[in-house]
Amino acid sequence: MSQGFKINKQGDLIYFTVQNFTERGGVVHAFSSRHGGVSSPPFASLNLGFHTGDEPGAVKENRKRFCTALGIDAAEPVTAEQVHADRVQVVTASQAGAGALDLTGSLPAADAMITRDKVALMAFFADCVPLLIYDPRRKAVGVAHSGWQGTVLEVGRRTVEAMVREFGSNPADCLVGIGPSIGPCCYEVDEPVVEKVKASFPYWQDLVEEKAPGRWNLDLWAANRQSLIEAGVLAENISVSGMCTRCNQDMLFSYRGDKGVSGRLAAIIRLV
Ligand SMILES: [Zn+2]
Repeated sequence: MSQGFKINKQGDLIYFTVQNFTERGGVVHAFSSRHGGVSSPPFASLNLGFHTGDEPGAVKENRKRFCTALGIDAAEPVTAEQVHADRVQVVTASQAGAGALDLTGSLPAADAMITRDKVALMAFFADCVPLLIYDPRRKAVGVAHSGWQGTVLEVGRRTVEAMVREFGSNPADCLVGIGPSIGPCCYEVDEPVVEKVKASFPYWQDLVEEKAPGRWNLDLWAANRQSLIEAGVLAENISVSGMCTRCNQDMLFSYRGDKGVSGRLAAIIRLV
């Protein structure tokens, strides 16, 4: 875990926070771990995703425990259907509770959400990259879900751009946390994926390493970080957890590590 991140424990519950966010204040946020819930294997124990095959009642209880630990009303978070694209949803307090405690209430397809209302935004992950964004000056927050597809579409950059457009944010004021997700150590991809990386990023050679003919390792953390820097976010304002989901299956859920039957981690953020 990098210096910019902190590990927090409350009873059995373990979650991660970004030091930059905490120091600026005005926001509550967290990246969950797999610890502190009630689900049984392979979802043990803090599975926060309904669309997994887990017992819905257990997921509901897990979400309640996670939110309550953060001082957030479990009935409040706004969630959206995640489809590995780059659409950014502007959220208002009137949408509070969309999909908070059930799957069907989620907002339609949006892999990123932004708001300047006091309402929690929550998204789900198991290997894909979670991004939390906080603009302490304009008092706005965002969350983005960035797997390889979101990464090549630069969904994080689109989220910052939407904050600029909608809220008048200056990217140089924005703080970003890149949470636990599959690392360059474990994220092997094939030629078609690498072709898309090459097409999206002129600096693609910094992002991939060829391990064997046609087999590449992709660094999603570096890709998201560099893309945010291109959007005007300052390098020193981007904190990367450096925790690989697949290397740390005792602590985190990994879709690849669990061969597709896996719980989901959450990233949540709310202005206070
Ligand atoms: Zn790894």
